Amino acid sequence: MRLQLCTWPEVEAYLERSTGIIQPIGSTEQHGPTGFIGTDAICPELIAERIGGELDVLVAPTINVGMAQHHLGFPGSASLRPSTLIAVVGDIVKSFARHGFDRFFFVNGHGGNRPPVRCEVRNWWQIKSVIAIADEVFGDAEGFHATPSEVALT
Ligand SMILES: [Zn+2]
Repeated sequence: MRLQLCTWPEVEAYLERSTGIIQPIGSTEQHGPTGFIGTDAICPELIAERIGGELDVLVAPTINVGMAQHHLGFPGSASLRPSTLIAVVGDIVKSFARHGFDRFFFVNGHGGNRPPVRCEVRNWWQIKSVIAIADEVFGDAEGFHATPSEVALT
């Protein structure tokens, strides 16, 4: 269930049965000559929507830009300063907390993001079943950035 497709009365009703929300967070950065610049935001968003659908948990709008200063040499990459990302995450969490959300699960798509709040974070590429599939399909061709698995996922 995507927050962006809800009305406020629907969110109010949701808060009667759950106070958890999934927050996808990613990056806008180059992924080599064939990977989408949105890879690090698209992957966690799709995974969050799948998890949210299966568990009936609300999914917040994706934070599409993260800390990617090391990619700014490539056209199309964008980056937030660490202080800006901290402020963005803090403001979003405080906004949702004001209405009763008290459990935040961040699905992160970018290794450069270091969430500045005490939240549960899972990198989608470190999920055991994802590693098993990547090992089986890509073997030693899998890497650290612009990997075959994330490019294939997008
Ligand atoms: Zn990536």
